[in-house]
Amino acid sequence: QSEPNIILHAADVQKQFGGLRALSDVDLQVEEGKTHAIIGPNGAGKSTLLNVIIGRLPPTSGAVIFDGTVLTGKQPHEINQLGISRVFQTPEIFPDLTVLQNVMAPAFARRDGAFKINMLRSVDSETEIRDEALSLLEDIGMTGRLEDNAASLSRGDKRRLELAMCLIQRPRLLLLDEPTAGMSRHDTNTTIDLLKKIKSRGMTKVIIEHDMHVVFSLADKISVLAQGRIIASGLPQEIKEDPRVQEAYLGG
Ligand code: ADP
Ligand code: MG
Repeated sequence: QSEPNIILHAADVQKQFGGLRALSDVDLQVEEGKTHAIIGPNGAGKSTLLNVIIGRLPPTSGAVIFDGTVLTGKQPHEINQLGISRVFQTPEIFPDLTVLQNVMAPAFARRDGAFKINMLRSVDSETEIRDEALSLLEDIGMTGRLEDNAASLSRGDKRRLELAMCLIQRPRLLLLDEPTAGMSRHDTNTTIDLLKKIKSRGMTKVIIEHDMHVVFSLADKISVLAQGRIIASGLPQEIKEDPRVQEAYLGG
């Protein structure tokens, strides 16, 4: 078997907020096509790491490399154009548009040049965009609500709508920061099913998640962050059995 392709590499990343060291010597390697979960207690630095990756926060030192391109120093929109999307940050939903219009909007923006992502076809007709949006809306179980205003959706449905808006951009790397936070068990399960479906599309995902049920049903690999350091990285089974992880996170 050939070497796995590391599509994302956070290399020796440090992040200092005044006197607080939020990230220390973080080395994260994400394999192409895999779902890589980052777990860890509150305040461990998970969101900070994500913000460094997407260019919202500059690292104090170290670098982030995506598919051979150094991201450090680039603006968030430039990083987005390279094919990295983060769910539940941008794009936000358009409350006055219908559900279907919301999912189609990022694809029009993409076609019209706002998203110059290399794997996109150059010509997307409105019919093609509509078909792709309908297929995504079927995945998120919202075909019955196409013409409803997005503002009328429940919180869980809004979150899934945002996910569909992200997916229609066809990112190569999708970052999810606690996608099921605050969701009911039912909404959580619907979202897990959706994430499993999109897993089969071969897109690489980095998912920050608190809910161990979600992590162990989705992750190919898990890294554990505690007090700004990665204390363990491995297969789900290895992480489950790691005594350092149990002590730091799973409650000993
Ligand atoms: P997590 O997402 O794992 O809960 P965060 O990355 O949000 O953790 O936070 C890590 C640490 O950095 C926390 O102590 C938090 O208070 C601090 N922190 C996060 N963002 C900032 C900021 N913009 N300014 C100062 N401190 C911050
Ligand atoms: Mg966080």
